[in-house]
Amino acid sequence: MASPLSGSPAAKSATQRVVVVGASWGGLAVSQALEKAAAGGAPVTVTVVEPRDHLFVNFSAVSGATVSAEVADASLIPTAKAWKADGAVTHVRGWALGVDAAARTVRVRPVDAEGAPAGDERTLPYDFLVLAPGAEQPVPMSAPVGTRAARAALAASRAAVAAAARVVFIGGGATGVEAAGEVKTAFPAKTVTVIHSGAALCSSAVELGKLTPRFQELLAAEVAAAGVAVELNSRVADLAGLGARPGVTTLAPGLFAAPPGGAIELVTASKKVSADLVFITTGAKPATGWLAGSGVPLTPGGLIQVDGAYRVPGCGGAVFALGDAAGSRDARSGYVAGNYSGPMVAANVAALARARAAGKPEPALKRAPEGGHGGVIICPVGPKLGMAQLPGVCGPNYARFVTKFKSADYMTGQSAAQYAHTTKEEVLKGHAARGPPEAAAPASAAAPATAAA
Ligand SMILES: Cc1cc2nc3c(=O)[nH]c(=O)nc-3n(C[C@H](O)[C@H](O)[C@H](O)COP(=O)(O)OP(=O)(O)OC[C@H]3O[C@@H](n4cnc5c(N)ncnc54)[C@H](O)[C@@H]3O)c2cc1C
Repeated sequence: MASPLSGSPAAKSATQRVVVVGASWGGLAVSQALEKAAAGGAPVTVTVVEPRDHLFVNFSAVSGATVSAEVADASLIPTAKAWKADGAVTHVRGWALGVDAAARTVRVRPVDAEGAPAGDERTLPYDFLVLAPGAEQPVPMSAPVGTRAARAALAASRAAVAAAARVVFIGGGATGVEAAGEVKTAFPAKTVTVIHSGAALCSSAVELGKLTPRFQELLAAEVAAAGVAVELNSRVADLAGLGARPGVTTLAPGLFAAPPGGAIELVTASKKVSADLVFITTGAKPATGWLAGSGVPLTPGGLIQVDGAYRVPGCGGAVFALGDAAGSRDARSGYVAGNYSGPMVAANVAALARARAAGKPEPALKRAPEGGHGGVIICPVGPKLGMAQLPGVCGPNYARFVTKFKSADYMTGQSAAQYAHTTKEEVLKGHAARGPPEAAAPASAAAPATAAA
């Protein structure tokens, strides 16, 4: 069988150009492993395309966007030291706007320090492309790309929580549950409600086989112990129209405040719930709209199709994808992307680059286990409660994993050390030097509209 590498436009070039889109757990792990491989002789140069100059720890931002200024700052970890100054990796701050899989190019819009468009679009040619653009998350797991704007947005969200007596999360998956637990624990006097369309919390993850009914049952007990009210079997109508209700203010996408002295009324299966503040926590979607029409195949749900070696079919063997944007069987986990799939993709790319440079046939690639890489799922309900599931199993005593491995600092210290080669203390010091977060986020820091190549 002919090698997918043979006949590629760059087959005769010695040094292979690798472009990595996204520098969160997936993209950082791949680029850092390739940097090491290059130092060890692999013939690669790496260009990372990422609009942020920090790793945004989206799951710790659940606490940062609702209750804790310190966790918010610790969630924005500068990546200035993530790659060696004299190494094989170059960071281009910008958004990938489209891929031309036939021409093997990526179109990029550069951004400035605050995430605003800066300069002309660029076209980056690649020999190998690694896609790790992750998922678009709702508030409280999102923040603008500029550090200043991100701190301001997280502070604004916290201020809205502090000012509200009745906080409602629509969507009872992990994000809604974790955020509700944070708010209720920090502010016991507030009424905190999760409204969920399923018959039990986290029902989508259970249906997908990622969580077990046992986890669901134990988690529900922790949520009840925290004092969070739960309304099940309730699909709130017209979520898209919430912001258009008279007097309702849209504070951020998916975050709505009632008019002063009024309420946002929501109808559940059994009653009416009145809210001062509503978060829509109905789930993430793959950040792949910009790939439409690019030749990179997507699943009906928008995930990038991959095989067991994380290679994207139909792109000449040159494109890989991992993390939350990829349709692999892996657990959706930064830990898995950072420690398993990321290093594996880097090893595959480095092996292909070596073979190509040496004019050898394509080597056998490393493949994920048949069912994908499983993960440890840790769902805090405030800093003291929660539930964890190790691959396939959990029990009441698994709650201790939550405080031991996650809610102590929401993994910000470990993330800083492993991916950004710094410490949480350094991160906090850097943000403190900037002064308190400003009140308003600059509008220019928003993501660009989805665009195809
Ligand atoms: C409530 C909740 C709790 C969780 N807790 C944990 C946990 O405790 N531990 C854990 O391991 N996982 C946890 N996860 C999962 C984890 O958040 C994700 O799996 C992880 O963020 C995926 O990493 P990623 O690299 O694929 O993408 P992301 O983290 O989504 O990052 C994608 C990156 O790509 C960039 N990007 C996007 N589009 C473009 C573009 N067009 N051009 C250039 N750059 C682009 C973004 O700016 C971003 O930096 C949790 C998830 C949820 C919902």
